[in-house]
Amino acid sequence: MENEKRTEIATLGEFGLIDHLTRSFPLKNRESILGVGDDAALIDNQGQLTVVSTDLLLEGIHFDLMYYPLKHLGYKSIVVNLSDICAMNARPKQVTVSIGLSNRFSVEAVDELYAGIQAACDFYGVDLVGGDTSSSLQGLVISVTAIGQVTPEKKVLRSTAKVGDIICVTGDLGGAYLGLQILEREKQIFLNQPETKPDLEDQQYIVGRQLKPEARLDMIEQFEKSGVIPTAMIDISDGLASDLKHICKQSGVGAFIEESGVPIHPQSEQMALKFKLDPITCALSGGEDYELLFTIDPKDLNKVRVMSDIYMMGEIVDAKDGIKLHTKGGNLHDLTAQGWNHF
Ligand code: ADP
Ligand code: MG
Repeated sequence: MENEKRTEIATLGEFGLIDHLTRSFPLKNRESILGVGDDAALIDNQGQLTVVSTDLLLEGIHFDLMYYPLKHLGYKSIVVNLSDICAMNARPKQVTVSIGLSNRFSVEAVDELYAGIQAACDFYGVDLVGGDTSSSLQGLVISVTAIGQVTPEKKVLRSTAKVGDIICVTGDLGGAYLGLQILEREKQIFLNQPETKPDLEDQQYIVGRQLKPEARLDMIEQFEKSGVIPTAMIDISDGLASDLKHICKQSGVGAFIEESGVPIHPQSEQMALKFKLDPITCALSGGEDYELLFTIDPKDLNKVRVMSDIYMMGEIVDAKDGIKLHTKGGNLHDLTAQGWNHF
């Protein structure tokens, strides 16, 4: 082994690693319509498409139990998966939940986690249909798989945005990241002075964006009602810049974003400034907002204009024009993705 080549995972990054690992797995079955590379896989089920997505949440990497109540964690573990199903313009139907538990957890603690899981299953009308349970040496591991359904005509991929399409998002951005900054700050203060009470500064909105995100199933319902099918879509888990890059790369296009069109909640703006961060950077690179980023054909503009909670931020352009941000000051910058890199 001495002379064997060793490549650090960090040299590939998360997406490079996924590419590297999955490149040599061509799809063999006629029913496997779409494999690795989108928010969810698509499987033909006698004319309907079954939509499948899975996510892994690890203690210490994705959540910190010092400030993450187990009930909220259960809720979020379902929501992040349903969000990927919605990103295909599909409706979630079932979930499976697998957990790894160390002996640090009591039955009551796991009950709390499952109270959150149940609340999410009830709210989104999905059934818990299975999973797996194991002991774990350290920490809590949660893996959720979500299954949904869509008709072939209504499916929306990341790879089908066209030049001239309008870029939209379903809600404000950066809030979840700033909520996390408050929770992290309070954790540090608590570790130094356990007697001080946490001060969440009445920032319920942004702390809530972090602790209780929602999947935008309501938007999928609005699209259906208004007869709009986005031309491409992704959910924002890593941040607008990173996730827009996926749409652009996979569609072979570029994008032009107006800074003034990027929705930022006043609480996010105020907190960013307090943390000496640039609000637009938080909106572009902060992750976990779980809003839907999508593109529409300009012919659907009038239908989309009357839908609630949709913000238009820019336009799809030629790939050679790159991915650019037009700032409020009138400058044009490359939209760099500082998405989360766990490696
Ligand atoms: P999302 O942020 O929407 O959950 P990811 O960035 O996690 O998507 O994953 C991108 C794509 O890569 C998805 O299609 C996912 O199923 C696939 N993928 C991720 N990790 C693996 C893996 N270890 N093996 C096979 N496919 C993977
Ligand atoms: Mg996704």
